[in-house]
Amino acid sequence: METRMRFAPSPTGALHIGGGHTALFNWLWARHTGGKFVLRIEDTDRERSTQEYEDTIMSGMKWLGLDWDEGPDVGGDYGPYRQSQRLPLYRQCAEKLAAEGQAYREGDAIVFKVLPGVELSFDDVVYSRVETMSDGLKGREPGELKDIVLIKSDGMPTYNYAVVVDDHFMEITHVIRGEDHISNTPKQLLLYKAFGWQPPLFAHLPMILGKDKKKLSKRHGATSVYEFRDMGYMPDSVFNFLALLGWSAGQDKEIFDRQEAASLFELSRVTRKAAVFDPDKLNFINQEHLRRMEPMTRLALIKPFWREMGLPVEEHKDEYLAAALTLMGGRGQTARELAAFSDYYVSFEPVKTRWNAGEVAEELLAGLREFFPVLLAEPHWTAEKLETRARTWVEEKGVKMKDYAMTLRLTLTGMKVSPGVFEVAALLGREEVRQRLDFYGLT
Ligand code: GLU
Repeated sequence: METRMRFAPSPTGALHIGGGHTALFNWLWARHTGGKFVLRIEDTDRERSTQEYEDTIMSGMKWLGLDWDEGPDVGGDYGPYRQSQRLPLYRQCAEKLAAEGQAYREGDAIVFKVLPGVELSFDDVVYSRVETMSDGLKGREPGELKDIVLIKSDGMPTYNYAVVVDDHFMEITHVIRGEDHISNTPKQLLLYKAFGWQPPLFAHLPMILGKDKKKLSKRHGATSVYEFRDMGYMPDSVFNFLALLGWSAGQDKEIFDRQEAASLFELSRVTRKAAVFDPDKLNFINQEHLRRMEPMTRLALIKPFWREMGLPVEEHKDEYLAAALTLMGGRGQTARELAAFSDYYVSFEPVKTRWNAGEVAEELLAGLREFFPVLLAEPHWTAEKLETRARTWVEEKGVKMKDYAMTLRLTLTGMKVSPGVFEVAALLGREEVRQRLDFYGLT
């Protein structure tokens, strides 16, 4: 039997970390089992649902690399894929329950009658046996259960009802969603039973907490998927990071791509222990992905950040800029950070704002002014030759390489930490190095 999973967002906000996490686990299980991943828009809250939110949710999913097989934009055999376009179906099914005496009318609303003594516990793929009294069912009197509104007096279905009708008619086999929906599940199961429908399997995903062990919220910083993009995280790393919230790939495997994750993923290995959103972990994962990127892909990622910093990216050849980023050798945890750490390859201007040669000790100046012309005269402008020339010279003079190399580093980069300074000099080229040294009066 083909497996069918769905992600069912309400278009009342951007795609948040929690929603992205749910979508991703559905996607993983669909891809792992060779099944279908369905996108269904739950837009029955007409006041708060907007087309814009629907669009941002979809583009957020695309950014994460979560493609769907059926949905409002791509269609499919089980449409329509927006709840607002399925109202006749909800009415028809509710009328059926009313005709059977399982539901009753209350004004324009249709309400499902919950009988005393009904079974409310269920088996969850992640949480095992859930012996819970569904909160929303508890009535005012002890032992009394509240009935379930199916269709409200404005003609709109309630969430708990529409979700059952849709999951049934869309032939969803696994409902994978956040644990905040656990208490809704017994209600939904009562409705499956009333209709005589086979319910899907339920797998509730652990809650995501901030480092302070409180439910993840705005207070913890960025929450929407796009905020992570703007901070310089790559979709591959956010994907990788989210996949590790509540699941592990085993064998200490922490860095993987989508295909690897899909092939390793097991729904039964999702833990119910709340997952902690650790920004340091995200940084680490992002840095690893940044390090492993193809040079030209990395360049395409960094360019917009350089441009945003006002750097003249178009003045350089792509090969040069890509080589500069490769030379950075894993420095920078985000694209934004890498762009900032490597600005001196694109322009000398930021260097001038960071370093002032007035800081050079007086007694060193004469030596530097003797040393740099010798370096600039090196006929073979390679890192190796430059280093050999520098070493020979400092040894002859009996001075410390450290002082000379650090001044060169500051002059070329404006920073105390950088890749090997002779490699930086080699890449910048003789003319550029000369100009920078001239500017500081060191030649
Ligand atoms: N529209 C619901 C939500 O956004 C879907 C819940 C479910 O997956 O059943 O939370």
